[in-house]
Amino acid sequence: MNDCIFCQIRDGKIQAKFFYQDEDVMVFPDIHPRAKTHLLIVPKKHIPEFIFVEDENLREKLFHTVQQIINQAGLKDNRYQIRINGGGLQDVDHLHIHLLGPITAA
Ligand code: AMP
Ligand code: ZN
Repeated sequence: MNDCIFCQIRDGKIQAKFFYQDEDVMVFPDIHPRAKTHLLIVPKKHIPEFIFVEDENLREKLFHTVQQIINQAGLKDNRYQIRINGGGLQDVDHLHIHLLGPITAA
């Protein structure tokens, strides 16, 4: 998808400071952070939103990556939140999992 921001980040056409990446997944900071740590966990494959994840291995990989990043970002005991927008609530139509923390207010 040429006009997709996250595909362009994957392809190096838009800059992002990767926190982590491998052949399936990339993790980079949200450009408008809503917490001290605000990372996006994103499949490299263009999948428009959560409900379209059909590959069981990728689903597993995404959740495993989130678990690892919670640890690596120092959020394990630190009031983190995981958020996935979909069904039109999302601004970017390339699946991404928000990881935010520490959340200081309810
Ligand atoms: P959502 O509303 O779940 O689609 O969230 C999309 C998120 O992507 C927003 O929090 C944006 O701040 C973030 N975002 C948009 N462009 C970039 C970018 N170039 N690099 C990092 N994050 C971005
Ligand atoms: Zn994309």
